[in-house]
Amino acid sequence: MSDGTVETVPDWRTLVAHQRPEWPDQVRLDEVVADLAASPSLVTPQECDTLTARLAQVAEGKAFLLQGGDCAERLDNLSTQAIQRKLRLLQQMSVILTSASALPVVTVGRIAGQYAKPRSWPTETVDGRTLPVYRGDAVNGIGFTQAERQPDPARLRRVYDASRYTLDVLRAHTYDLHQLRERNQDFVARSPAGVGCGRLVRRIGRSMSSMDARGGASGAELFASHEGLLLDYEEALTRHDRGSGRRYAGSGHMLWIGDRTRQLDGAHVAYFATIDNPIAVKLGPATTPEHALALIDRLDPDRRPGRLTFIVRMGARRVRDLLPELVEKVNASGAPVVWVSDPMHANTFQAPSRHKTRRFDDVLAEVAGFLEVHKALGTHAGGLHVELTGEDVTECIGGSAELGFEDLHRNYESACDPRLNADQALELAFLVAEMLG
Ligand code: PEP
Ligand code: MN
Repeated sequence: MSDGTVETVPDWRTLVAHQRPEWPDQVRLDEVVADLAASPSLVTPQECDTLTARLAQVAEGKAFLLQGGDCAERLDNLSTQAIQRKLRLLQQMSVILTSASALPVVTVGRIAGQYAKPRSWPTETVDGRTLPVYRGDAVNGIGFTQAERQPDPARLRRVYDASRYTLDVLRAHTYDLHQLRERNQDFVARSPAGVGCGRLVRRIGRSMSSMDARGGASGAELFASHEGLLLDYEEALTRHDRGSGRRYAGSGHMLWIGDRTRQLDGAHVAYFATIDNPIAVKLGPATTPEHALALIDRLDPDRRPGRLTFIVRMGARRVRDLLPELVEKVNASGAPVVWVSDPMHANTFQAPSRHKTRRFDDVLAEVAGFLEVHKALGTHAGGLHVELTGEDVTECIGGSAELGFEDLHRNYESACDPRLNADQALELAFLVAEMLG
């Protein structure tokens, strides 16, 4: 601990795991957990350490983090093409951001494991009928029937297999800078927002050429991250590394604790304290500076740069009021955390059609507030965490295509929260790049 005392951390199994599903069959759960415990890890300790080293650069203000992907991945219709389109979109965004900020961009997907969702309510009522809420494909089915909504431990094995498949696709494929640059130029040429982006694209073209000359390719590596919500699954895939003696979650490179499960006396914080992966915690508007400092003591007692990221999601209207004190006090403590903006989760509302949605302008406004706060304090605005897809969905409103409420029914595919579509995500990257540049 920072004051030199050693605190014994209780075993997470003895603590309350908020959001834990009510698995109906403990014997079946135990079988699946044993099967996973005997299966190969999905990522290696070396890859996790590489990501920690990359994030240490972010903590020092020498790099920027882009983290993005689905709110909830789906087990059905896993598609190589869809994974590649998501990868390409993240890499296109990284190229845009790296060129404007002149910093390397560390690219991390919400991918290959993002299958479990924390929910605000345990049940859902439709037309007078009440069933358990959907908790992500790792737990139950999205269909509104009793059978679908029953938690099924066998799904954990399917999540493992799907995550492995996704990682295989990601590892087998990267896009070269020229392809990415061309696609960015095509986007600008056909986008109604294109005119304003022209100058930036030319600058991006120039800095990409100089990057080519140096032989570097920012954003070419893609790491995998997800919310570490289901501790039975995470523990089953946690391994001791013989070489270093350290313990790593093997389900993904980086795991985060959600805003609903960051209780200091809860099982999630206790489990996360036992692993050596780079980790993050989501901080919503109720977070006090004292809570943030206590999380640092518990999760990063050695103050290792790159170990701990705070993903703040305060809302477009509140970020300027709530963030400064948090950043000031954490900064004054000397802890080397990475600060990232999630401009999505506190800007969600229900459209008249009852679809969950977000306004593109609110997303942009929260990022702007986040950047302003860091600029005023002289701290590094370390990155962006967004929900997006490479597909042409209509889930968030606004953007240069001016999607409105009337468009939501057209192509709303998210199983949980609304994502930026590919064009909205690129537009966001260009607009954030202009703020950074
Ligand atoms: C999420 O990232 O999908 C999520 C549920 O976020 P939060 O924990 O910030 O609410
Ligand atoms: Mn979400």
